[in-house]
Amino acid sequence: MTRHASKAAYLNEIRGLITKMHNASIGAAYRVKVITRFAAHSFIAVHNKTGLRLSYHWAALVYVLLTYFSLVPISFAADDPRPLEVKEVAPGVFVHKGINALMLAENGGAIANVGFVVGAQSVAVIDTGGSRRQGEALLKSIEQHTDLPVRWVINTHVHPDHVFGNAAFLGRDVAFVGHVRLPDALQQRFEHYLAANRASMTERLLAGTELVLPTETVADVRQIDLGGRILTLRAWPVAHTDSDLTVFDETTGTLFSGDLVFLEHLPSIDGSLRGWQKALDGLAAIPATRVVPGHGPIDSPWPAAIEPERRYFDALAKDLKTAIDAGIPLATAVQTAGEGERGDWLLFDQFNMRNATAAYAELEWE
Ligand SMILES: [Zn+2]
Repeated sequence: MTRHASKAAYLNEIRGLITKMHNASIGAAYRVKVITRFAAHSFIAVHNKTGLRLSYHWAALVYVLLTYFSLVPISFAADDPRPLEVKEVAPGVFVHKGINALMLAENGGAIANVGFVVGAQSVAVIDTGGSRRQGEALLKSIEQHTDLPVRWVINTHVHPDHVFGNAAFLGRDVAFVGHVRLPDALQQRFEHYLAANRASMTERLLAGTELVLPTETVADVRQIDLGGRILTLRAWPVAHTDSDLTVFDETTGTLFSGDLVFLEHLPSIDGSLRGWQKALDGLAAIPATRVVPGHGPIDSPWPAAIEPERRYFDALAKDLKTAIDAGIPLATAVQTAGEGERGDWLLFDQFNMRNATAAYAELEWE
């Protein structure tokens, strides 16, 4: 540690560091590391009687320790989720970009794109993220951007990276909205999702994550009004899943497609390949100017954003049909189906064979 002209200069440096730690998006572990290092330096200085006069060091040490202990309860008790980083992709439309990965401890399950739309009277949240903790971080971010209340929490489908944050919005005057088949889908799968993700994400990161069912459902089309701002919700036939719902902000032409659109991240078929191919035609007819896909770049041109996915499905279907017609069994066919698309997608190995397996079983009956 460098020598300081005075006790005030020394304390100022420490104070500056602590302010920086408060402002920066860094975890409790890092704070502890930095503060411990400062404390260690002070001890060494005291022991060697070098640098500043002894009393300065003791004063600094006490200051550091007091700050440390005042930070600890905040950092560890609530695990201190920072406001989720969001981008305003259109006026009043805020989106957090998930990372292209599986749900793991290192990403806290924050892999899906989630967002919110601010009207003149209320806010609608579209998907809540991969844990209650991420839902809380999203709520903090909303509170940074508006004083208006969240009145709607919309889930685009049943998958855990989109619904695990719901519990963060409980206890408020909020309607949870989803596809008419979402309640059944959640009831059948939620506990399984929770158990599987406890293994991959850790118990601690999933603390408080619980099943929150829709309080209102959409069977076809429904509009909600945020105050001078209409969102059109549309329920789709089986495609990515059996509970796909899209949200269209009429004001800015922004379409939240949920996982009906994947970019970069290979689509995962948990519904029907043929159903999804058909849904793409219906989606393309929506007069949007941009799409917020379930995964991938959060401000993508419409309807061009559909094309990579359409190409992948066409290739996968063609390969599988050829194999089926030639009498090649499922176990062999899925080794090569869709391989021509490998270079164009992330997470290809994690999802392609599973997609091919599901699609083979579907196409076999055509
Ligand atoms: Zn999904």
